[in-house]
Amino acid sequence: MADPSLTTRIVHSDRHFGVEHGGIHMPVHSSVQYGFERAEDLIGVFQGTLKNSFNYARQGTPTTAALEALVTSLEQGRGSVCFATGMAALSAVFLTLLRAGDHIVSSRHVFGNTNSLFGTLGDLGIGVSKVDAGSLAAVEAALQPNTRLVFVETIANPGTQIPDLAGIGELCRKRGLLYVVDNTVTSPALFLPRSVGAGLVVNSLTKTIAGHGAALGGAVTDTGQFDWNVYPNIFANYRQGEPAGWGLQQIRKKGLRDMGGSLSSQQAHQISLGAETIALRVAHSSSTALALARFLQAHPRVAAAHYPMLETHPQHARARQLFGAGSWLLAFELRDPGTMLGVLNRMQVAIKATGIGDTRTLVIPVAPTIFWEMGASARAEMGIAEGLVRVSVGLEEAQDLIADFGQALG
Ligand SMILES: *Cc1c(COP(=O)(O)O)cnc(C)c1O
Repeated sequence: MADPSLTTRIVHSDRHFGVEHGGIHMPVHSSVQYGFERAEDLIGVFQGTLKNSFNYARQGTPTTAALEALVTSLEQGRGSVCFATGMAALSAVFLTLLRAGDHIVSSRHVFGNTNSLFGTLGDLGIGVSKVDAGSLAAVEAALQPNTRLVFVETIANPGTQIPDLAGIGELCRKRGLLYVVDNTVTSPALFLPRSVGAGLVVNSLTKTIAGHGAALGGAVTDTGQFDWNVYPNIFANYRQGEPAGWGLQQIRKKGLRDMGGSLSSQQAHQISLGAETIALRVAHSSSTALALARFLQAHPRVAAAHYPMLETHPQHARARQLFGAGSWLLAFELRDPGTMLGVLNRMQVAIKATGIGDTRTLVIPVAPTIFWEMGASARAEMGIAEGLVRVSVGLEEAQDLIADFGQALG
């Protein structure tokens, strides 16, 4: 399971900020403006010479800074920038680091809205090649002279496909390419993308890290492993100080300050509270998800269950080698897709809702909802069966969920 020191480290993370009055939790700083006694200090914040200081909340507050430090500690990175949502974090990475004429290679098994964002990049003149990232050869074959980065998700949502994470990391290292890994589903409680050479890690804080479904947020973490000196798209203004800091500097200034997808202090605080229990939640939900996946796989009405810790999963060996457990995400296909609505409507414990990584178990028919807009042929290309049901396993006990799914399947 997770590193035993993780929870100990995380529950004390905000105390390093010297909280006022000896408060043992970081308070919520709701001020938008931050004032100074001396004009020199105000100038110092703008010019970056006055460290650990704030001027305007769009660029961060003491509360968002505490969350950034927490996420950096979870990912064992060099630094992080938080955003209002996971999509704001992903948009900031792509829009601040890529220019017209650039090219990226992505896994074709990605979150639907990320796939839609790739369409926007295409309209801006940035080429996106979508490949089966389970195959290193497919990734390598898609590289072009203008390729700037390779993007994958650790466990694809909803199909649970797992890319050749280590092989792609080695390929990126050899070619000097930036490797961007979306760690949302595994989370740093199960996997550290830095261990396979990722340069940037993206997390939707909304999901596993907050874990309670009561706040939206996103983060980009620099692992410190990418040499920004070789990256062509860093503006002269951000080639200041150590090259290791250049990428995040540009993402913070262009992505947060200019594009403005800023996280509020209130949401940052909610996320920080949720993050303290990440290891406990992920361990519990992962063992529940495995029990439920085994039950579904054996059920006569179910054609297939997709879960990395099932021996039948195509990348099971890879999952066992890389991840501490299988996560709360699973999916299954009904033998008769025509029975899908009836099965879902009979569920009493699992809630019919979109979203993942909540305390409560959520179920959704994938094709007619989250993958509807793209159409049937794009769904087929992404491996989304028409009868696929996604399950985000919450904190309920396994026997209660198995009983609920059992009666619903009939
Ligand atoms: C949900 C999700 C996102 C987007 O996160 P939001 O916080 O909802 O914007 C990105 N990547 C993956 C893998 C996700 O599941």
